[in-house]
Amino acid sequence: MQLGRLLVALLGLIALLSPVTDARADDPRWVFYTGNKTRYVSPWFEGAHRIMVPFGCTRAPYYAPDSRCRDKQGFHHGIDVAMDCGTLLYAGRDLRVVSPSTLGPAYGTRPLRLRNSALGWDVVIGHASKVYVKEGHGARRGWRIARVGDSGAPDGCHLHFERRKVGGGLSTAAHPVKLLGLKPRPQN
Ligand SMILES: [Zn+2]
Repeated sequence: MQLGRLLVALLGLIALLSPVTDARADDPRWVFYTGNKTRYVSPWFEGAHRIMVPFGCTRAPYYAPDSRCRDKQGFHHGIDVAMDCGTLLYAGRDLRVVSPSTLGPAYGTRPLRLRNSALGWDVVIGHASKVYVKEGHGARRGWRIARVGDSGAPDGCHLHFERRKVGGGLSTAAHPVKLLGLKPRPQN
């Protein structure tokens, strides 16, 4: 009896002292092209996650050499945030779903183009595994819109989040960090 209680107390202590780990292991395909290890929350996604490829010139090998970058680096037009496959994505603002037809296969088989004309932006989301919203329909802030996947992504499941001018091409892509609304995960 006494031994049983001691064992329960010991197990409790071990649980208290163990570092908190995430339930699932990281995707082995992920490569982080930033030293920033902060986990961020955002109105656009579930949970707290690390940036994998920042916006702008990058050493990541998937992009053609770009004249804006030195050492033949490519230019990444969005922010990649590493997330488990199936992580929920939300409408971070009120928006309308518009045609993704001009987006190439690099965005996967279910690319999403989202528009807020009043605020003057389109958001392009790449690599989704599932999409819950239909072209021509609106979504309010907080509605679930998709799930993260690896469609068109050789480097594992992640959110590719891109900000463009309304109706604009890739050359209109602007730094999306403010719109993505990243905030460091609150510490307990
Ligand atoms: Zn990307």
